[in-house]
Amino acid sequence: MYDVIIIGAGVIGCSVARELSKYERKILVVDKASDICEGTSKANSGIIHAGFDAKPGSLKAKFNIIGNQMMEELSKQLDFPFQRNGSLVLGFTKEDLIELEKLKSQGEINGVRELEIITGENVRELEPNLSKEVIGALYAKQGGIVCPFHFTIALAENAFLNGAEFMLNTEVLQISRVSATEEIPFDFYHIETNQGILRSRTVVNAAGVYADLFHNMVSEHKIKIVPRKGEYCLFDKCVGNYVHKTVFQLPSKMGKGVLVTPTVHGNLLVGPTAEDVLDKEDISTSEDGLKEVLKKASRSVTDLPIKQAITSFAGLRAHEESGDFIIGECEDAKGFFDVAGIESPGLTCAPAIGEYISNIMSQYLPANLKSSFQASRKGFISIAHASFEERKQYISENPAYANVICRCEMVTEGEIMDAIHRPLGATTLDGIKRRTRAGMGRCQSGFCSPKVMGILARELKVDPSAITKSGEGAYLITGFNKDDVV
Ligand SMILES: Cc1cc2nc3c(=O)[nH]c(=O)nc-3n(C[C@H](O)[C@H](O)[C@H](O)COP(=O)(O)OP(=O)(O)OC[C@H]3O[C@@H](n4cnc5c(N)ncnc54)[C@H](O)[C@@H]3O)c2cc1C
Repeated sequence: MYDVIIIGAGVIGCSVARELSKYERKILVVDKASDICEGTSKANSGIIHAGFDAKPGSLKAKFNIIGNQMMEELSKQLDFPFQRNGSLVLGFTKEDLIELEKLKSQGEINGVRELEIITGENVRELEPNLSKEVIGALYAKQGGIVCPFHFTIALAENAFLNGAEFMLNTEVLQISRVSATEEIPFDFYHIETNQGILRSRTVVNAAGVYADLFHNMVSEHKIKIVPRKGEYCLFDKCVGNYVHKTVFQLPSKMGKGVLVTPTVHGNLLVGPTAEDVLDKEDISTSEDGLKEVLKKASRSVTDLPIKQAITSFAGLRAHEESGDFIIGECEDAKGFFDVAGIESPGLTCAPAIGEYISNIMSQYLPANLKSSFQASRKGFISIAHASFEERKQYISENPAYANVICRCEMVTEGEIMDAIHRPLGATTLDGIKRRTRAGMGRCQSGFCSPKVMGILARELKVDPSAITKSGEGAYLITGFNKDDVV
């Protein structure tokens, strides 16, 4: 019997797990995927929004402001990349300037600090590659960028370090509430999974685009989450400083529009589209989607370096019909806590949402603070970013840090071995890619994937043919039969 089962090891589930792990509780995080951060948390813009877009009074506005302000301290504690690079919303017409003023006022009502309207000339002084058509912009110094993978993995690793358990490859199929009996004198939840039955006094529903499914299993007040797809184009690091700030256009009712932004790892990211789709697994990209992204982005910047595009990807926003997040205990299912409809700015809000759920959970299921809680965690070693002296030190400790496996991102065998043997370590090519960046570069793993597969197989002591790209079914070598592997 667990005290808390969290469904979903995305940024929300992992943030909740970390906050709850500050207390003496038996916590389990379950995810159907083979790794943490396999859902929407892996495919987004990576922006820490300043907080001017959200409707005043909404949960999005409230948690955005708090989450944004928590990010600096959290990134230091948990050692993940975060930069407060600032953002611009561009105006091209006089009507746009009126809208920018409205956005600024809305931001101020929400509590965003340091918002400023600047002229077209000021915009191009800050960002020389922006279009000559820009006549003004809303400049938000509090905007930032983060690595969504490292952020989510850091939260998960720290929760794990503090006692939270994780069960991956575990798909929740059915949930029901069971009333107290003489034998078990409290109500609990019976959770059917593909790995057997689990039981818990409380459930946190952080299942992303599937959160409506679980909410509707326990509550009469039905909710509906529509997956809203966003397609992106990622550019090579050689044009990573084409812009320095995150450059938005004016938002519409479908979202924040197409942006152009540097990433914390030095790439240039352009996107996303916004299209409601029927399939909750549809993360395909399309020619039309990418054309739309490039066309819209070309309005913001001059001569978008299209030839430097290295890959495309898509993510699904968990858009709930009410338009706001659904966060809190279900009225008609005590002990069931929803964190549903977490579309943008969910990444930004995650630390604040985790804290909030932990606070309301303390009222339902009081627990003592854990004296052994460790707030910090050491991030991944990066030889590419280490100084000459540090490299020498690492290599003297382990010569595998001198063996470069991914030439594009300069990732060594030692780093890949670390990623496998860390808590909640990588078991797939994608897992290695997100932790170390091996395969994230110009060649998109064309050269390093066989070598990474070999290291994974050696370290995990399995046959190379058992190594997958991203879990069950995603085999890289054809003709593989699971039963053949010793
Ligand atoms: C295109 C796009 C751009 C975005 N840009 C930004 C941005 O720049 N800044 C920002 O703040 N936010 C942004 N967001 C929003 C942000 O990415 C999300 O709010 C956040 O990642 C949601 O996290 P989550 O943990 O709720 O969901 P997820 O990361 O999807 O996690 C849910 C998890 O639940 C698991 N799961 C589902 N069903 C089951 C089941 N039956 N059994 C077990 N496990 C299950 C899934 O495998 C998944 O891992 C963007 C979103 C999109 C799509």
